[in-house]
Amino acid sequence: MAEKKKPMEDDPIYLLMKGIKCQNCMDTNVAIMLHGPDRCVDCSAQKRQWSSAAIQLQQCVQMRLEKKQLVDKQALSLARVLTHFNVAAPLQLKFIIHYWKTEARLAKGTIALLRDEWVLPIGSLRNPPYGAYWINSAEQFRDWSRPYRAQAITQLVTLYRLQRQWYPRLYGQADFDFLNHINDELKEAMK
Ligand SMILES: [Zn+2]
Repeated sequence: MAEKKKPMEDDPIYLLMKGIKCQNCMDTNVAIMLHGPDRCVDCSAQKRQWSSAAIQLQQCVQMRLEKKQLVDKQALSLARVLTHFNVAAPLQLKFIIHYWKTEARLAKGTIALLRDEWVLPIGSLRNPPYGAYWINSAEQFRDWSRPYRAQAITQLVTLYRLQRQWYPRLYGQADFDFLNHINDELKEAMK
């Protein structure tokens, strides 16, 4: 018979569960009910101080509900936990996979969903051991976003060089023609 596994002492979610005040909302005031997300009944009776990450999550969920956008339970469950993890100690991907019984590709997809569609400030490690965390300041956002900006710019420069060398009449040959085009396309995409 298989031996019953004890919770790993270094399991960050196990440690989090022991440390938080309210397991109903994971100290975020966002409860996951059968009918969907709602305010936490256990916490509403008491005056509680919410972390800035918890407040960001509350606002995000409220906005999605108002706009009648889907609030995926698994994504919300992960987001609530991530409010407790920061850049100094991110939640490693292996624990996300284990706790939510998922696989790496899907876990990364959920993190991307929280960032791309929910517009939550979720940072992630780009290299092993991989992991995710809540971005808690403008400085942290700058540090996290720097490689993404650099990557996007490198790709645009490559496109520009190819276009200039082989298809100079496509957008006009001058640098500003290319820049104007990118500017227009960016504006369109940002709408
Ligand atoms: Zn609560």
